[in-house]
Parts: sequence; structure tokens; C-alpha cells
Amino acid sequence: MPAKGATNPMVQALSPPGAQSTRAVSVQDVARTFHARGHAVPALAGMNLIAAPGEIVTVVGPSGCGKSTLLELICGLQVADAGTCDAMPAALMPQRDLLLPWASALDNAALPLRVHGLSAAEARRQAVPWFERVGLQGFERARPTELSGGMRQRVSFLRSLLAGKPVLALDEPFASLDALTRQEMQSWLEHVLASQARTVVLVTHDVEEAVVLGDRVIVMSARPGRAVADIAVGLARPRRRTDPEVVAIRERVLAALGAST
Ligand code: ADP
Ligand code: MG
Repeated sequence: MPAKGATNPMVQALSPPGAQSTRAVSVQDVARTFHARGHAVPALAGMNLIAAPGEIVTVVGPSGCGKSTLLELICGLQVADAGTCDAMPAALMPQRDLLLPWASALDNAALPLRVHGLSAAEARRQAVPWFERVGLQGFERARPTELSGGMRQRVSFLRSLLAGKPVLALDEPFASLDALTRQEMQSWLEHVLASQARTVVLVTHDVEEAVVLGDRVIVMSARPGRAVADIAVGLARPRRRTDPEVVAIRERVLAALGAST
């Protein structure tokens, strides 16, 4: 799989090189309609989302409301029909992990480095230290089928991280995992992001996950999706699902979701 959104001319730089930008992602009044079998399917209409550099913005919304479409627009893999979508270069962690079954975990993670022209040996050399950092040490040579769901998600996340883009677009990164593994992975992600100056747009259908991980939670309406609430979280980290403040914000997000459908 090529490093999605690598040097994609469809994603416009927000500011000249070196200039200070206050926005890593700016989606303004965006519409996107698909045409399938003679039908127009409006996925997004009047969608807005702003992310400042270093911010973690989580996005929740009903199934089919255009969340994956939104991330693909941010990564320059799709083009808006209306409105503007500006973003610093962004790497997508897709909803399905898309790991190459025949390649080792190390080669799967190092793929974006190969795409950037590094030799296999150099790409592996740069990727290896990350295996320890993400708790995958000893599994470098394992094939995807030999890894647990959580491990595959880590390899997939590492692949997005090693693309070296300032923005990470994470599409339901933990959706396929059991509840316990999902909570472990959330703590792990929080830990990794604390040492990484990245802007993150994370889509999830898990409202608690959105509140535990996000600096802000964007709530989307049913299709065609648009933002109906932008809720600042503003709580110290690490957060726990059972923290009363987390529970209170979760209720606000659920109320906004309920009102939107
Ligand atoms: P979500 O990620 O929120 O579940 P998606 O962004 O995947 O939603 O899809 C939004 C809507 O657009 C859905 O109704 C989906 O069926 C439709 N859609 C998405 N991609 C395509 C496509 N390539 N062709 C036709 N319809 C599509
Ligand atoms: Mg989706």
C-alpha cells in the first residue's frame, strides 16, 4: 500500500514553509456526494472541523454519516465537491488494517519509509526502535496472521506514524478489539502521543473513547454528516472512563448525538 496522502497535491499547505500556522486541519463548509448506481448519496454537507497543531480532535457520529469520507478528504484521498479542506500533510490509519499478509510486521510498519525511497535495510533500521516503544519487541519478523488484533492495530498505527506526517487521521483504530484490549490500547495511544508532536483526528463510535482521548469532541449528525457539537474536554491526563468529569462530558456528547439523529 502506498503511503496514502504522501506528497499529495490535493492537500494544500495552509501556510508558507516556516510560517507559524494556528490550524493543522481546516475543513470548512465541506460537501461530498457519491454517485452510485444512478443514485446520489450525499455523505457530507456543510461539514466543519478545525484542529490546531498538536491537538487531538475526536469525531463521533452515527454509522454512515461520512466519518471515513471526512478523514480521506483530510488526507487528500478524496476531493470536496464544495467548501474548503486544507490540511498539513496527513497520514491515514484506515478502518481496516490493510497489512500485507506476506510481509513481516517490521516490513509492514516500514512500508512508508520504502515508499519514500529508503532501501529495505535502512527502512528496517529506522523502524526497529519503534517496536520496543509500541510494545512489539520480539514480533518484528511475525506475519500479520501470527499477531493478535491489538498487535496488528499497533503495526498499522506505526505504519501511519512512520509516514512522518504532522497530521494523523485515525479511523476507528480500536473498533475491532474487545473492551479490555481497547482500553489498554487507548492508554497506549495516549502514552505514544504524549511524546509525539502530532495533530490527531480520531474517528470512533465509542463515546467514552472520544472523551478519554480527545482535547475536543466533534459530534456529527446522521448522513449527510455535519458537525452539530464541538465539545471541549479540558481535563488532565490520564483520564479514566469512570472519572465523574469524563462521565459528565460523555453525557453531553450522548445528548448531542441523540439530538442529531
Ligand atoms: P462512516 O465512516 O461515517 O460510516 P462513510 O464515510 O464510510 O461513513 O460513508 C458515508 C456515506 O457515503 C455512506 O452512506 C456510504 O455508503 C457512502 N459512500 C462512502 N464511500 C462511497 C463510495 N466510494 N461510493 C459510493 N458511496 C459511498
Ligand atoms: Mg467509517
